[in-house]
Parts: sequence; C-alpha cells; structure tokens
Amino acid sequence: MSARETIQPDLLSHEEVQYSDEVPDVVEPDADPAQRWEIRPSGYPRSAEERFEALQELKFGTVFTDHLAHSVWTPGEGWHDRRIEAYGPITLDPASSVLHYGQEIFEGLKAYRYADGSIRCFRPEENARRFARSARRLALPELSVDDFMGSLIGLVRTDVDWVPDGEGTSLYLRPFMFASERYLGVRPGQFVDYMVIASPVGPYFTHGFKPVAIWVAQDYHRAGPGGTGAAKCGGNYAASLLPQQVAYSHGCEQVCFLDAATSSVIEELGGMNMFVVESDGSVSTPALTGTILEGVTRASIIQLLLDAGRPVKEREITLAELQDGIRSGAVAEVFACGTAAVITPIGRLVGEGFDLTVADGAPGGTTIGLHRQLTDIQYGRAEDPHGWMQRLA
Ligand SMILES: *Cc1c(COP(=O)(O)O)cnc(C)c1O
Repeated sequence: MSARETIQPDLLSHEEVQYSDEVPDVVEPDADPAQRWEIRPSGYPRSAEERFEALQELKFGTVFTDHLAHSVWTPGEGWHDRRIEAYGPITLDPASSVLHYGQEIFEGLKAYRYADGSIRCFRPEENARRFARSARRLALPELSVDDFMGSLIGLVRTDVDWVPDGEGTSLYLRPFMFASERYLGVRPGQFVDYMVIASPVGPYFTHGFKPVAIWVAQDYHRAGPGGTGAAKCGGNYAASLLPQQVAYSHGCEQVCFLDAATSSVIEELGGMNMFVVESDGSVSTPALTGTILEGVTRASIIQLLLDAGRPVKEREITLAELQDGIRSGAVAEVFACGTAAVITPIGRLVGEGFDLTVADGAPGGTTIGLHRQLTDIQYGRAEDPHGWMQRLA
C-alpha cells in the first residue's frame, strides 16, 4: 500500500480535515511537509512475520523499523538530499568532528496508533522548535519546523506498519544531527547529517506504576551557567553516566542534579524534569534558569494543572527545603517527567548522609491523576482541549 496516496496529514488543523472541494488551503499539496522527502524504499524490508515477531517483546530502544529519514547540510547548499531510505549502518570518516568534539543534538518523541488507524504525535512542533534552539547552542545549522515535521511524517508513513497497537505501546522517534566533516580543527562542522530513526516501544512500567529512588549528586553536575544544560545534546548525557553509576551503587535508579554554582538548588534528573506536590495541593517545579532542559512534558503538566485551577509555582527549590518538607510532611509527592516514562513517581530521596521516604513511599493522587490525564490525551482516550495531538499518518 502506498501510504502516501491514502493518508493525508492534518498538520494545519487540529480538527479532522474534510477532503472536499470546498476546503481551501489545508489540502493543497504544498501543505504536505513530507513532499520534499523522497521515498527510496528499502531493498530488504522485513516480512510481515518478521515484523510480528519483532513487535512481540518490546524493550526500549532495541528494535528499529525498516527505514530512516536522512538529509545533509553544507554551507553552500544548506539542507538538501532529503530522503527516506533503508535503515542500516552508516559510514563515517574516522576524522568526523562529532567523534572528537561531540557536536551532536537529538530529540525524542512518540507516535501513537489510534483505533481509527491514524498515527498521532504529541506536540511535535515543540520538539521541532527545541531542536532548532539546541542546534543554535551547539553551532549546528538549524532545521526548519517544516523539515522536522516532513521527516517524521515521511518516515512514519513509510513504516506505518511498525507502529504497535498494544496497550501502552508507541513508536519512539529519535531525530538527531551531528557534524560529519572530516576535519580535526576545532570549529563548527561544515558537513552535517540529520537523521530520524524509529523504534517501537512497549509500556515503560512493565510491573505497574513503581516509585523510584533518586540519588542527589553532590559532587557532579550536569550543567553550569552558560553551558549546554538547556540544549538536548549527547554530551550532557555522557556527563551524567558516571553520577548515574554512583546512584546505582547506592541502590538508586536515577540521579537528581543540583545547580553547579551553589550545589544547593534542585535542578532536574539526567533526562527528566521534577515536580514537588505540597500537602496543601500546590505544585512547584524548578524555574527554567538556562541550566535546565525545557521539557515538553513539563510544560504540558503545568498547563493541565492550571486548567484544573491548581496553582503551579516555577521557582527555586532548595535541597534543604525539599528535605525539610519531606521530613515534616509538607511535601506530599515528588515526581519526575519526560517523554519516555511520561511520569515517574519518586518514592525516596537519597544522598550523602540522608535517606528520606516521600510520604508513605507510594505514588500520590496528583502523580497518578496527571499520568492518567496525559496518557489519556496521548492515546486518544480523552478530549484534547489544547490540540496537542497532531496527525502524522
Ligand atoms: C529530554 C529531557 C527532558 C524531558 O523532556 P521532554 O520533552 O518532556 O521529553 C528533561 N531533561 C533532560 C535533561 C532531557 O534531556
């Protein structure tokens, strides 16, 4: 089946687009951002049986679809050669700058299969805009929102049969960009690749909604003032791996990072933002200071709370305040959020010289409620009042 002929996106409208003669603009061929992405079908796609087999046991980030999106950039030509082609190993010159100086950025978002067969994505244009901001910080060329969307749509249409339909499953999309120029001099790469790969994923919590213990890193930081903390770049993750190992050694699943300047203010986890729910029902989250990644999930949770008339404070939260609040019971719930797990309850806060259990250690009502509300919107089980879901195929 050619998905291209049978499925039309409705990116310009959050409502169902009517494909009749009366509908202007939105159905013009120009409105299709995937149009510029040439489809070069894989010569070795997996059979329906192989795909079925691969979709049985989904472990995060281990199974990939038959195709990827790819475009290249040079100063002379800008972005060009946009194509959807076979997934497979790539050739890189050993002197490629990304291998030496880490000039790389990425994004992560999910596409969901709806009951009507359509494939929808959660706020993808927010990821597109963040990708452009990350590019700017890493001195990489910006990719337009249109090209970002076109690459997602082109890839998802081509590999539409790889979008799983089981409870809690989705197609995880990983756009990324790196400097591939063969040059050991330190300057922005003059040859850059952009790619999107796709991985069907299962529910994050296979054994129920389980609270995690987090280790508060006192000796290591993930970001500093003026650094790359607000950009989604591989280097931030590389820097978080050692403290992550320290966390494991203390029986914790995740690391909570403090500000680099004073080591006293809560920032975020290695790949998730944090929220604190007080016993009076008010909610706080660390304010965006330039060293915190602006999560799409974070912004969406703030919106949902405000919709419900609940006060949300974006402010400075010190470690001392959080410790005192947990001890006194003024802090009722702590949770982390991000695309992969959506919401992760935090049951314990552990660090050098302290080990605190949040309330009774079980997920709280606000945490459970927000998780349900967000996933209901994402899977199309609830109304989408802000038009967050965009159709890809
Ligand atoms: C990606 C990321 C998040 C979460 O962002 P979402 O858009 O909600 O997925 C939070 N912190 C860091 C450091 C991240 O890289």
